[in-house]
Amino acid sequence: PLPVLAVVGRPNVGKSTLVNRIIGRREAVVEDKPGVTRDRVTYEADWNGRRFKVVDTGGWEQDVLGIDASVAMQAEFAIEAADAVVFVVDAKVGATDTDEAVVKLLRRSGKPVVLVANKVDGPSGEADAAMLWSLGLGEPHPISALHGRGTGDMLDAALDAL
Ligand code: GDP
Ligand code: MG
Repeated sequence: PLPVLAVVGRPNVGKSTLVNRIIGRREAVVEDKPGVTRDRVTYEADWNGRRFKVVDTGGWEQDVLGIDASVAMQAEFAIEAADAVVFVVDAKVGATDTDEAVVKLLRRSGKPVVLVANKVDGPSGEADAAMLWSLGLGEPHPISALHGRGTGDMLDAALDAL
C-alpha cells in the first residue's frame, strides 16, 4: 500500500489549494466515503518519483458540531489513517485556539508532523511564519500554496517523514 499523507487544519487555511498543487492536474479520487468522512478525499500523487496518497479534509459539518469540534473530528480521523501529517496554518492569521486544539491531537497521535505556514506569498511573510515556532511542532515551513512558493522544499520534508 502507498504511504498516506494527510493534510489537516482549520477551514480556509488553504488545504485544498495545497492538495491541488501537490496532485497537479490529475483528479484521481480513490476514496470518497459517506457520512462524517465524506469530506475526506484521497488522491494519488507523486513527488520526485515517489508515489503516495494525499488526503484532503474539510467541508466540516460546522452547523451541527461547531467549528472546533468539527475540525477536531476531521483531524482525528485523518491523523489516525495517516503515516504523516501536513498541518496547515494561515500565517497571516497566526495560531488560533482551534489550531492549538489540533496541535494537542497531533502530539497525542505520535505521528510525524510537517508544520506548514501557508499564505506566505512573498518575503515579507517570513516573519509571520516564524511566529509559528510557538506551536512547539518544530520548524514552520513557509509556503504559498496559491503561487507555489516553498512547496517543493515542504514536500521534500513531508516525504522524508513518510
Ligand atoms: P481550505 O478550506 O483549507 O481547503 O482552504 P482553500 O484551499 O479552500 O483556500 C481558502 C482560501 O485561501 C481561498 O480563497 C484560496 O485562494 C486562499 N489561499 C490558499 N492558499 C493561499 C496562499 O498561499 N496565499 C493566498 N494569498 N491565499 C491562499
Ligand atoms: Mg478545502
